[in-house]
Amino acid sequence: MSEIKLLNVSRKYQINKDKDFYALKDVTLIIKNGFVSITGKSGSGKSTLLNLIAGLDRQTKGQIYIDNNEISKMSKRKWISLYKNKIGVVFQNYNLLEDEDPIFNVALPLLIIGENKKTAYNKAKEYLAKVRIPESAQKTKVTKLSGGEKQRVAIARAIIKSPEILLCDEPTGALDSNTSKEVINILKEYSKNHLVIMVSHNLHIIKAYSDRIITIKDGRIVEDVMINHNKGSQEAVKIKKKNNTSWIDHVSMSNIKKHVVRSIVSSIALITSLTLAFLTFGYVSGKDDAIDLASYRQLDYGVGTITKEEKLSSSGVLSLTRMTRPDISDIQSHVYLTDNFIVKPNFDAILQQKLNISIDNKVIEGVSFAPVYSFDKLHINYSLITDGYIPSEDTLNYLIVNNSAYDLLALNGIGKSIKISAYSQTNYIDLDETIISDTFTLEFDASIVAKVDEFSYLQNPKIYYSYVALEEYVSNYLLENLTTYFNKDITMAEMLLECENFDPLTSYSYRVFPKDLSKLEAVTKKPQLTNGLSYSSSSLLIRESIINFLEAAKYGLILFLIVTLVGATLILGIISLTSYSDDHKKSAILTILGANLEDISNIYLNESLVICFVSLVVSFLLSYLLSFAVNKIINSFIDIGSLITVPLNSFLGVPFFFPLITLILTIAICLIATLLPIYFSKKISLKEELQSL
Ligand code: ADP
Ligand code: MG
Repeated sequence: MSEIKLLNVSRKYQINKDKDFYALKDVTLIIKNGFVSITGKSGSGKSTLLNLIAGLDRQTKGQIYIDNNEISKMSKRKWISLYKNKIGVVFQNYNLLEDEDPIFNVALPLLIIGENKKTAYNKAKEYLAKVRIPESAQKTKVTKLSGGEKQRVAIARAIIKSPEILLCDEPTGALDSNTSKEVINILKEYSKNHLVIMVSHNLHIIKAYSDRIITIKDGRIVEDVMINHNKGSQEAVKIKKKNNTSWIDHVSMSNIKKHVVRSIVSSIALITSLTLAFLTFGYVSGKDDAIDLASYRQLDYGVGTITKEEKLSSSGVLSLTRMTRPDISDIQSHVYLTDNFIVKPNFDAILQQKLNISIDNKVIEGVSFAPVYSFDKLHINYSLITDGYIPSEDTLNYLIVNNSAYDLLALNGIGKSIKISAYSQTNYIDLDETIISDTFTLEFDASIVAKVDEFSYLQNPKIYYSYVALEEYVSNYLLENLTTYFNKDITMAEMLLECENFDPLTSYSYRVFPKDLSKLEAVTKKPQLTNGLSYSSSSLLIRESIINFLEAAKYGLILFLIVTLVGATLILGIISLTSYSDDHKKSAILTILGANLEDISNIYLNESLVICFVSLVVSFLLSYLLSFAVNKIINSFIDIGSLITVPLNSFLGVPFFFPLITLILTIAICLIATLLPIYFSKKISLKEELQSL
């Protein structure tokens, strides 16, 4: 049997700077067993005394012992363990969990110490029967019960673990006299084997039932009368070691249901930021492939020009340079081409300025006449062809247009005939300053045999021809006057190679063609050049500009994402703190039923976790669907498809990396948002929470 001992206990309140008020003054008392009543007028200090014994309040002087352990020296954990097995409390205002039914309320102390649900519920029913709560009322919400019923449920909850000490503060204060008697009878019965300390100002009841009556006046004991003694004790319920968290889940779910709007708001905040996170992640993971897909969509992918930069003068920061055509020896010794490239003299330079393109005798402007090495499978990307066929032989008579040229030329279908013509004059001046002139003529009717769907971003109208065919034409074109002059065959190709930097015939460059477009990635790596030589390719330039553009967008997105994630965490944190603060009373009730801070935090953590996981699943589905829509929109603006690919299976080669990382992210958000504010929030005052109505 337990023993409660108070030595010189005072509880002082400071009313103002100079005035102290003693709610309890120098109380010395030993309480052992039976039904002990504490009585006195209102404001005499009864509740103060009971709260001190219960550890809900701290004395300002003296010591209080329960079984020789001083309460004020106990750790919080040890103090809570008192409530796990030794102490039960009953209040005037019941302090039941109003959203729950009587069974759960009564079973709760057992669930908290780890009893399994079935046993706890059965025992709860047994105790509810003991305090005569009809079965029909056992499963309705506590709010629907009458005051007397509520108090009987509260007593059942307080005694279900058979605590050695039952502390009751005005248990009949809110009840009529008949109901009061029923309640007191239950307490009297319990006091036969346990210590019951009851505070009441109802002398009528006290005198009829008590074994000992302690009367308080102005914080001092003025009378202490023994009437009877009871002996014997019952075994207290032992604390179970195993962890049963079903009650935590139960309370969390009730909270979610109770805070529907709040739960929805936090879900929306989380879904928004998680969806954004998934899309950003999908963007980062899909971007590179999308760039490749987009930039490879050019028929002259990888076709470039090699020029040489020559310094003319330099003074300080400024230097004057001009582009010159490199020597063939320069090309041979300073262009380290991989096997992927073919280098050719720039024969198309003669076409660029003098070229005439006309359809039905109408001159077309604004189209470029662009070379691909040959229309062979190795040199062009067949998958781009949306209309027509690819001619297998290398001839200038067959041409291919890209989609913007197709539109510009208003072709309305494949097979249209187009006239190409270029004329230029070559002049050779010999040592006697005699000028030998020849005319170069390129004139042919060609047919447009195919259309390719190219990446439209930064793309201009192009008509493609085969460079092999041009080379053949130029190499076979005899310059007649020069041939006569030298008395040996001189072709246009030879003439072009002969004259260095001989504007406008030669231009200043060499042409570079990819050898095998089936190895696209290799072409992406530029040829390595030294000695002032440089390589430029419009398709690689486009590629670089998309990469830069999308890379910049990535950082913008990540920044935005961080902001929304922090925002969502804050919203969740505020919401969880609000739930916790709104439910201070609930937390206080759970504490005196033996729950510790971790258990209580877990309720709010669970609440957040449920919201997080629901949001996680919704965000997954939403981002997956959204990625299609967003890709479609992006594609219609910048012609890059599949920019966002939400990776579900693996990322960077790691299986389930993405789902795993988002799971970790979500749990981190929950932990940060829930536990931090709870641990840093101000300590709740149990006494105030439990005595408030
Ligand atoms: P009762 O016997 O009615 O239960 P209490 O023990 O609640 O009386 O209160 C005893 C006295 O202490 C009362 O005069 C009350 O006003 C005072 N008191 C209780 N709590 C406080 C407080 N937090 N601050 C100041 N005075 C208090
Ligand atoms: Mg009181």
